[in-house]
Amino acid sequence: MNFRAPTDTIARLRFVLENIPSPQRYQWSTAKRTEVLKELYASFWGTHQETFMVRTPLPPGVLLSQIQQESPTFSDPVESLGQPCGHIFKKGENCYRCRDCGLDDSCVLCSQCFHSSDHTDHNVTFYLTQQPGGCCDCGDPEAWKTPITCQYHRSPERSLAPSWRPQPVRSAIPQDLRDSMSRTIAYALDFVLDTLDFSPEEMTHPTTEPELKSQVTACPTPTDSYAVVLWNDEKHSFDDVIHHVQDATGCSPQAASDVADRVDAEGRDIVEISLSIPRLLHIAQTIAQIDLGVTVRRVFDTCREEISATIIEWLLDLSSCRIGSDAVTIREIIAAELYTSRKKDSSSLTSNPDAGKVYGEIEKPARLHWMFLYHTRLWKRPRLNLKQLYVALLSISRDHKLAIATHFATVYHRIIDAYLLVDREIETSIKYFAVQLFTVPSVAAHLVRNNDIITRLHSIITAFFTNQVTDKRLTLPPNRVAEIDVDSAPFRSKRFMPVFSDLRYICTNSTVQELISSNPLYIMQFCKVCQLFMGVNPNKRAAATHVEYETDSWINVFNVTLSLSRVVKVYGEAFVKGTTQQLVYVIAHVIGFILSVCTLSERQLDRMKYFPIAFHDVEFNGALYNIVDFDVLTGWVSFHHSLHWLLAELFKHVDLLRDEALSEIGYRNLSDVITRNIRDQAFLIVLDFPLRVLAMTAQIRNGLWVRNGFAIRGQLLHYRDFMLRELCYDQDVYILQCCFVILDPSIVIVSVLDRFQLLDWFSGGTEHPVYEGPQLSGMVEEFLYLLITCLSETGSATNLQMHDIVKREIVHGLALGPCTHTDLTKRVAERIAEEASFDRALKEVSNFKAPDGISDSGIYELKDEMYDEVNPFFFHYTRNRREEVEGILKARQQKKTGETTPVLVPKPLGITSGPFSILSLVFHSDVLLQVIFFLLHNVVSYTNSADVASPSVDALVDQGLHLVMLALVEQPEPFSQLAARKSFKEGRTLIHELSDMELNDKFRSSKPKVEWCLTKMAGYVPSQVGLLRRKPEASEDRTSKEDAKKRAAKARQEAIMKQFAAAQKTFFDNFDEDDMDDEGDETLDAEPAESLGVCIMCQEDVDRSRPFGALGLIQPSKTLRWFPEGDSFIETLAETISGPSTWDRPLATSQHAPTAAEKGKQKRQARPVSKFGFTGFPPKYFRFGLHNSFCGHFMHMDCFAAYNHSIGQRHQQQPQRNHPENIERREFVCPLCKSLGNVILPIPEHPPLIKPSLTAEKSVMADWMRAVGIEALKAPLDRKLAALQYPNGTGEFVFWSAEDSDYPRPRDDLGWDDGYKMLTTLRTAAQNVSSQSAHLRDRRDPPSGERGAGMYLPEDLCAYTISSIEVAQRGIGNAGSSIAHNMNDTTIRLIRSTLACLSGLAALQFRDRPDGGRTAIRLALLKRVLPEWVREFKQPLLLRDPFAVLVESAAVASDMLQPMTVLLYYASLARTTIGLLMQFHQAKVPSMLPPADKQYSHIFGDVGIFVRSVARHAPQLDQVVEYILSALTEARFERLLYAHSLPFLRRAAILKRAITTTTLPTPSPTNEPDEYVRLLDLLEIPPLRDLAQHESILNALGGWSAHFGHAYSPAQATIKLEYTGSYNLTQLPYALDSLIDEGTALVCKRCNTAPTDAAICMLCGAICCFQLHCCVDPDNQAQGECNMHTRECGGIIGLYFLVKRCAMLYLSAENGTFGPSPYLDIHGEVDMAMRRGHWQYIHPQRMEELRKTWLNHGIPTYIARKLEPIADTGGWDTV
Ligand SMILES: [Zn+2]
Ligand SMILES: [Zn+2]
Ligand SMILES: [Zn+2]
Ligand SMILES: [Zn+2]
Ligand SMILES: [Zn+2]
Ligand SMILES: [Zn+2]
Ligand SMILES: [Zn+2]
Repeated sequence: MNFRAPTDTIARLRFVLENIPSPQRYQWSTAKRTEVLKELYASFWGTHQETFMVRTPLPPGVLLSQIQQESPTFSDPVESLGQPCGHIFKKGENCYRCRDCGLDDSCVLCSQCFHSSDHTDHNVTFYLTQQPGGCCDCGDPEAWKTPITCQYHRSPERSLAPSWRPQPVRSAIPQDLRDSMSRTIAYALDFVLDTLDFSPEEMTHPTTEPELKSQVTACPTPTDSYAVVLWNDEKHSFDDVIHHVQDATGCSPQAASDVADRVDAEGRDIVEISLSIPRLLHIAQTIAQIDLGVTVRRVFDTCREEISATIIEWLLDLSSCRIGSDAVTIREIIAAELYTSRKKDSSSLTSNPDAGKVYGEIEKPARLHWMFLYHTRLWKRPRLNLKQLYVALLSISRDHKLAIATHFATVYHRIIDAYLLVDREIETSIKYFAVQLFTVPSVAAHLVRNNDIITRLHSIITAFFTNQVTDKRLTLPPNRVAEIDVDSAPFRSKRFMPVFSDLRYICTNSTVQELISSNPLYIMQFCKVCQLFMGVNPNKRAAATHVEYETDSWINVFNVTLSLSRVVKVYGEAFVKGTTQQLVYVIAHVIGFILSVCTLSERQLDRMKYFPIAFHDVEFNGALYNIVDFDVLTGWVSFHHSLHWLLAELFKHVDLLRDEALSEIGYRNLSDVITRNIRDQAFLIVLDFPLRVLAMTAQIRNGLWVRNGFAIRGQLLHYRDFMLRELCYDQDVYILQCCFVILDPSIVIVSVLDRFQLLDWFSGGTEHPVYEGPQLSGMVEEFLYLLITCLSETGSATNLQMHDIVKREIVHGLALGPCTHTDLTKRVAERIAEEASFDRALKEVSNFKAPDGISDSGIYELKDEMYDEVNPFFFHYTRNRREEVEGILKARQQKKTGETTPVLVPKPLGITSGPFSILSLVFHSDVLLQVIFFLLHNVVSYTNSADVASPSVDALVDQGLHLVMLALVEQPEPFSQLAARKSFKEGRTLIHELSDMELNDKFRSSKPKVEWCLTKMAGYVPSQVGLLRRKPEASEDRTSKEDAKKRAAKARQEAIMKQFAAAQKTFFDNFDEDDMDDEGDETLDAEPAESLGVCIMCQEDVDRSRPFGALGLIQPSKTLRWFPEGDSFIETLAETISGPSTWDRPLATSQHAPTAAEKGKQKRQARPVSKFGFTGFPPKYFRFGLHNSFCGHFMHMDCFAAYNHSIGQRHQQQPQRNHPENIERREFVCPLCKSLGNVILPIPEHPPLIKPSLTAEKSVMADWMRAVGIEALKAPLDRKLAALQYPNGTGEFVFWSAEDSDYPRPRDDLGWDDGYKMLTTLRTAAQNVSSQSAHLRDRRDPPSGERGAGMYLPEDLCAYTISSIEVAQRGIGNAGSSIAHNMNDTTIRLIRSTLACLSGLAALQFRDRPDGGRTAIRLALLKRVLPEWVREFKQPLLLRDPFAVLVESAAVASDMLQPMTVLLYYASLARTTIGLLMQFHQAKVPSMLPPADKQYSHIFGDVGIFVRSVARHAPQLDQVVEYILSALTEARFERLLYAHSLPFLRRAAILKRAITTTTLPTPSPTNEPDEYVRLLDLLEIPPLRDLAQHESILNALGGWSAHFGHAYSPAQATIKLEYTGSYNLTQLPYALDSLIDEGTALVCKRCNTAPTDAAICMLCGAICCFQLHCCVDPDNQAQGECNMHTRECGGIIGLYFLVKRCAMLYLSAENGTFGPSPYLDIHGEVDMAMRRGHWQYIHPQRMEELRKTWLNHGIPTYIARKLEPIADTGGWDTV
C-alpha cells in the first residue's frame, strides 16, 4: 500500500478516508475525527479558505459554523425578510403552538418568532421539544391559516422597516470552488453509503465463529480483528446496562458507567476490540442476555461507520454555514448532490443483499433514497443529525420541499418496513419525518397525485394487519382476501398508530380533501381497508357460567379502532369539498360495502359466529312488521363497525342532502336516494348492526352480561367513554337517527323495540323471560334515552358549526356547577377541549374567578343568561347528571319567577331545512304513541301495586312526560288529536293515563309536568280533556301546606349546615396559619393561672402535678445573612440607603405585580438572568446558627417516653420505608400537627419577672449604675465563677457552649430528674449540630482539653432564634402595635423556655448554691458593661454581639433587663459605627450611591460628632473618619446607622415582651411614623440626641470605645454587620416561558452546560443539574447536584424550583419532597410538569407562602408532613 498521500485534494481525501481504518490504526479516536474533518475541509474549499471567513487553519476538531459565528464579519441574519425562519429546535427548547393561526397541530413557532408576532386572545400553548430536529414554521405561507406577521420573517412588501433593502441571497461563486464543494460532498456521501451497504439492519450478534467470519465486509483484506458494539434502545435503564457491561467485560464500574453514558448520548459505543473471538462472542452473549442490542463486526467496518458519522456531523454543520452573506448556496449544493445518483465506480454495491431489491423497485435511485433506506442502520446521534440536515434543506424553498418529499414518498413503504418490523430505536426513526412533509398542503397534494401515497398507505395497513410479511418486509401489494387475526403480532404492536396518523395528516389537507371528494377511487380503497376491521372481536353473552379465560385482545382491537376511526372521520369530512352528486355516489357505495360485509357475501365476518341475515314478522300496534331477526342475548355482537361510522360521517353533510340539492340530480329526498339504490328492506340490515351494539350496551349496563367479566365492561367503557364516544357511539346513534327520516318511523321504532326485546312490554306485558325486575326497567330506560336522543338532538341534524358545538358542550359542562378549567375539560369530550375556539367559547359563556389564596384554583362559572341554553336531556348527560341539572335549573327558575313548581319546557327543534326537517313528523306515529301510553300505563299500575316508588320509576315517568312535552312542542295539534282518539288497553287513551296521574299522590313530583301537558292538550281537544280531567279537591291545600312545612324544615337544615361549614372553615384556616403570622390581638394582661391545654398523648390537662414539656425542633440554620462584601456590596449598600425605615408595617411594593398588559400581551419582563445566574443572595454571607421552634403542643414526660418507644417500633416494623423522622437524630413527629421535633423543653412555672422599669430619667439610670458599681466592688472574688469564664477574656461562660466537656452526666446526686432530661434533649440536639459544623463557624474552639468547645448557645441558639423571628417579621404589622405586640403565645413560650434552658445549664454548674449561680453570673455580666471594669477583660466589649450579652442577662438577671438594654443599645450603636467605618476603610466609598437627606437628627442629633468620638480612640479609624464622612456624606452615614441599629431594637423589644408579665404599653406617640422612635420609647432608651444629659452612659461609651481603640488592629478583629433588608427568595421571572427561553442562560457552573433538567436554588439563584448523570458527588456517586449544592448553600435545607417539571423541590437532611410551583396557569391552576402547556405566571400569594415557609424554618416540617401519611421509599439524596 502506498502511504504517500496524493496532492489533489479530493484524491487526498479519498486516500485518507480509505486508509484510516488500516489494520495498524483500528481504534477510533478524537484524533482521527480531527484528521477526517481537516481533510474534508481542505478538499471542500480548495484554495478558497478565506471566502469562508477563515483566516488561520481551523483549530483541531472545531467545526466551521462555530468559527463563522465568532467572526466579526458575521452579522445577524436580519435581512432574511421574506425567507422562512426555519429555526431548528434543540432538545428542551420552548415551542409555541397557536391553535388559531396554525393549520394543524404540527405548525409551531420558535420563541423569537412567537414573541414578535401578535397572538392576542389566541389559543396558544407551549411545550418543550423532546427531540431536536423540528423546525419553526414562521414565514412558511402553507403552515398558517392567516399569515404570521413576525417582524423578522414577514414578506418583504409587508416590511415596515424603512431601512430594509432586498439583498442578493446568493453570492457569485468561482466555478472551481463550486466544483470542489460539489465533488467533496458527493464523495463524502458516497463514502457513507458505501459503508452502510455493509452495515446490518438488525442489531443482533453472531453466536458462533463461522457465523462471525461469514459476515459481509467492505475490507479488501479481511483480518480477524473484531469489535463488540452496544446499541441504545428504549427499554433498558442505566443500571441494567452498567451491570451487564461490567459483568461481561470485567471492567471497572466507572468504565462501564462511561459506556452507558456514551450509549445514551451517542446511540452506540464500542465495548471492546480484540482478536480473541471466543472472548468477544462471550461478551456479546452476556450483554445480550437481557435483550440489549449487540453486534460483533470487523473493526474495519466499524471504524468506517464512525467516519461516516463524522461526515454526517460535518454536513449538518455545513448546512448552517455561509459563503459571505450567502446562506443558501451551500445547502443547495448539498441538496443537489443528494438528489443525484451514487457514483457507480464503487465496487461494493453488489455485496449488499438488499441493494438489488432496491434497484428493482426504484428507477435510478438517488443518494437521498439510499440515505432514507439506510437510516435504520445508523444510531441515535447521526440519525438526529441527518434529520436536522433534511429539515435545513426543506427550508430552502418550496421546490426543495417537494423534491425531498418525493424522494421520501418513493421509499416510504420501505421506511415503514424498518419502522414497523425492525428498528430498535424508533424514537429517532426517519419515519417521523413524514409529519413535516405530509402536513404541507402543496406537498400532500403532490404526493397523492404523483406518488400514489394514499394507495400505498392503504396497502401498508392491509398488509400489516393481515400479517403479510416476508423477510421483515411487508408484501406489497398485499393479497386482498387475507384475513386478520386479532391475537397476532400486528395487533399487539403499538407502532402502527403513527402510520394511521400519516394517512390522517395527508387526508386532512384541504387540497387532498378535494381530490378525495372528486375521485371516489380513494374512498373505495379506504372502504376495503375498513372492511377488514368490520365486526372484529365479537362478543357472545355468557348466560349460564362465567367466561373462563379472559383475553385482553379487545384492548389491542380498541387501539386500532381509535386510530382507524379518526381516519374515518377525516375521510367523511373530506366531502365538505364535494358536490351533492359526489356525496350521493359515495353514500350508495359505502352502503354497498356495508351490505356486502353484513350479508356475508364478502369473507370478512367469521362464519362461525355470524349467520346469514334473517327476517321475521312481528305484530305491534295492530300491524305486521317484517324486520331483521336477531337475538342479542344469544348472538355474536361486535363493537367495531368502521364503515357505519364512515356512513354516519357522510350523512352529516346535511347541506348537500337538502331536498332542493337532491332534486337537481333527480332524487326527491334522502329517503329516495337510499330506497332507489338498494332493495327495500336492505337498509334495515344496515341499521341492524349499530342497533345490536346499542342493545348490547344497554344490556351490559343493566347487568345482563356480568358473566363475561371485565373484558366486556372494559369494551363498553372504551366505546362510550370520552375518547371514542363521538367516533363510535355517537356515530351509531346518528345512524339510527338518520333512519327516522329515511325509513318509516314506525318500522324503525319496532326494530329498536325488537332488538331491545321490549315489544311485549310496550304492548302491555310486564314480564320478560330474561330481564328481571330492575333489569327490565333499566332496559326500558335505555330505550327511552335512545328515543329521546333521536327525536331531540339537533347537533348533526342542523350541521352545527364547531364553535357552536364547543359552546354547547361547555354550557352543558358548566351547568353542573362552577369548576376549574381542568375539570371542565374532563366534563367535555377530548376533541372539544382541544379545539382552537375552546377558550374563546369559554370566555363567551362563563365568568372567571381568579384564585386568591394559596390552595385554591381559578374557577369558571356559567354566565347567568347561558342557563337558558341548557337542556337537561342533553344526550351527553348521564341520568344522574340530568337529574342534577334539572334540579339546578328548577331552583333557578323558582328564584327568578317565584313559581313554586316550575316546569322546564323543551325547546322546539328548529330544523328548517335538510333531511331532518321532517323529523318531527315522527310524533304522528301510532307506534310512538303506543310506546308512551304503555310506558305510563305500566309504570302507574306498577306503582299502584307497590308500596314505595323506586327511583327508576321516577326516571321513567320523567322520560315519558318529556316525550309527551316534546310532541306537544313540535306537533301539538296532531299529537293531541291522536292522543285523544287512539285507545289502547280497555279503551283507555293517553289522556286517561295523564288525568289519573295528575291526581295520584305517588306522582306528586311529576304533577306540574302532567298539568302542563293536559292544559296544553286542552287547547286542541278541550272536550276530551275536560271530560277526563277531574278537578282536584282540597288536597291542593293540604299538599301545599305540607310542602311549606317541608321547605321550612329544609331551610333550617341548610342554615345549620352552612354554620357548620363556616365553623369548619375557620378551624382549618387557623390550623393552616403559621404560628408567626398571628396578629397581635391577644391579650397582654398579666398571665392568668397558666392553662396550657392538654397533653396530646393522654389528653389530660398539663399542669404542675406531672412533669411535662413543649415539643420543639432545634435545627441548624443558615437563614440569617451578613452584609455582603465584594460584588454585591455596593448594590446592597444602595438598597440599604434607599430602603424602608419602618419594618412593622406592610411594605409598599409587592415583588411581582402582574399588570393587565403583561397578561394580555405576554410581554416578557426585563430578564433577571445575569451571567452569574439569578438574582439570589450569595451563600458566602449566610450566617450559621441554631434555630429553635415550638409547634405549640405539650406532652407529659412519661407520655413522651412512650411515644418515642412507639416510633422506634414503627421503624422496626417498616424497615423499607423512608420515615418522616430520623431516630438516630432523636427526631419525632408531633402526633397532632405532624411538625418535626427533636427536643422537649420546660415551660417555666413563673415567667422570669421583670420589675417595673427604671424609666429613662437620667438620674435613675445614673443611680442604678452607681448602685451596681458599688455592688460589684463589694463582692468578694468568686473563684469558681472565674474558672467558668473563658480564659481568652471575652467574658463568656464555658458551660453555655454546646460541646462543653463538663456537662454533667446523670449521677446519683442528679438522678434522672425530668428537668434534667429535658435539658439533655436540647444539649443533645445542639451538640450534634455543633460537632459537625466546626467549619461553618468563625468562633475558634479553645485548645483541646479545655472546656467550652462548640457553638455558644446564648448567641448561636437564643439570639439567633430571636433574630430569625425578627427577620421573618419584617414588613408585617399594623398601626397601633409594635413587633413585640405581634408575638403570639407559642413564640413567647419558646423564648421563655429557651432562656430557662440557659439558666438551667448554669444551675447545673452551681448545684451547691441555692440561687443556681445567678448572683455570681449577674455580677460578672455587670462587670462586663461597667466602664470601671472594662480592663478586667482582655477582649473589648464591642467585639461581642451586644444582643447576645442582653440575652445572657435576660436568662439569669431579668430584673436588670431595662438598664442593660439601654447600655447594650449604645454598645450596639458604637459597634455599628465602627463596623461601618471598617467596611469603608477596606472597600473605599463607592461613588454611585443613591442620594439621602439628613432626616434622623431627632434621634441621633449630630451624627458626625458621635462617629468621630467613637473613632477617636482607634488611630487607624481616626485617620479615615473625615474622608469617609465627607465622601459618604453624614446623611448617608446617618441612614446606615439607623438601618443597622434598628434590628437590635426590634430584637430587644421581642425579648422584653417575652419576659414581661404586664401589658406592654401601646407605642407612643401613636402617629409617629418611624419605628425607631417608637421602639426607643417602648424600651425606655434615651435617644442619642439627648446623650449629653446622660453622663453615666457617656462614660460607659467612652470606656468601651477606648478599650476597643487600644486593642484594635485592622488585621485582627473585624466586626461583621448583618444584612438589614427584607429577606427574599431568588426572584423568578414573572412568566414561566421566558424562564425556559433562557434555556442557554441557565448554565450549571459545575459542568458548564445548560442542563436539560435544571433546578434553580431559591436561596442563592444557582443553577443545578437535576438528576442528571453529569453532576454527581465524586465522593459519593449516589448523591446528586442538588444535595451537593445544598451543603454549600442552605446547609441542611434546600429549596429549588425545577424548571421543566414546574415544581418545587424541598430538601432537608436526607429527606425531601416535591411541592407545587409558585406559577399558576392562566386558568388559575397548578400545572405540574407543564402537561397542559398553558401560559404560566408567578402567583404572588404562593410565592409569599414559599418565602414564609423558608423564613419560618418550616421546610423540615413541610417535608415531614408530606412524608408522614405516605409510604415513601426515599432516595432523596440522589437528586
Ligand atoms: Zn422562528
Ligand atoms: Zn419569524
Ligand atoms: Zn395566533
Ligand atoms: Zn400525657
Ligand atoms: Zn404539634
Ligand atoms: Zn444555593
Ligand atoms: Zn451540573
